[in-house]
Amino acid sequence: MSRGILLVLSAPSGGGKTTILKKVMAGLPGLVFSVSHTTRKPRPGEQDGRDYYFVSRQEFESIRDRHPSGFLEWAEVHGNLYGTSRAAVEQRLGGGRDVILDIDVQGAAQIRQSADPVTVFIAPPSLAELEARLRGRGTENEQTLALRLENAKQELAAMDLYDYLVVNDRLDEAVESLRSIIIAERCRRRRTVDGVPVQVVF
Ligand code: ADP
Ligand code: 5GP
Repeated sequence: MSRGILLVLSAPSGGGKTTILKKVMAGLPGLVFSVSHTTRKPRPGEQDGRDYYFVSRQEFESIRDRHPSGFLEWAEVHGNLYGTSRAAVEQRLGGGRDVILDIDVQGAAQIRQSADPVTVFIAPPSLAELEARLRGRGTENEQTLALRLENAKQELAAMDLYDYLVVNDRLDEAVESLRSIIIAERCRRRRTVDGVPVQVVF
């Protein structure tokens, strides 16, 4: 069985990763979303085990400090800890499934050291639009909003390190771009559009 593709998606907070990914996953079979662990508090509507595994700092540190670390990568982002379960990702890739990680630029840099990911950066059309969207989402107070916007500048500076750049101006176009990238990468690695390995014998 050939290994699945490891896809890494990053964007500044409010860039549209969650929105785009939900739409792409709904229309493209064979993609598994990697549910991260975080010490951040759940937002209204977020479910433990679906959006994140919401854990205490102590629980997070105990997974992180295992040998080898229980996390494939982890980072402190906007004052909270976030990490990707090594076992969950390995098991799915080993089983031939394509796995998609929604992680920040620090986590993406760690993954590039140890694996062979396909990396995609999603950028907002402008900083002003990013702020408007973050405010519109209604999940941040003035303090966390300011922190996320300040961090966005550093995150945007890392976009050139990614294999692909998608500007999330019109949502339907951004969804189509990410979908096309995944389909092209599947063909490159001799998979069908749905992600099934192709055995061509002539
Ligand atoms: P992220 O997961 O990267 O933090 P979200 O997917 O939560 O970002 O998007 C932030 C906000 O912007 C959400 O309220 C979402 O509905 C909105 N949004 C996302 N993409 C667009 C777009 N292309 N045009 C207008 N609003 C958008
Ligand atoms: P949010 O709190 O808005 O859900 O996410 C904040 C940031 O943390 C986003 O940039 C998101 O991509 C990132 N993030 C989510 N999960 C992980 C993870 O497992 N590892 C890392 N490094 N970043 C993550």
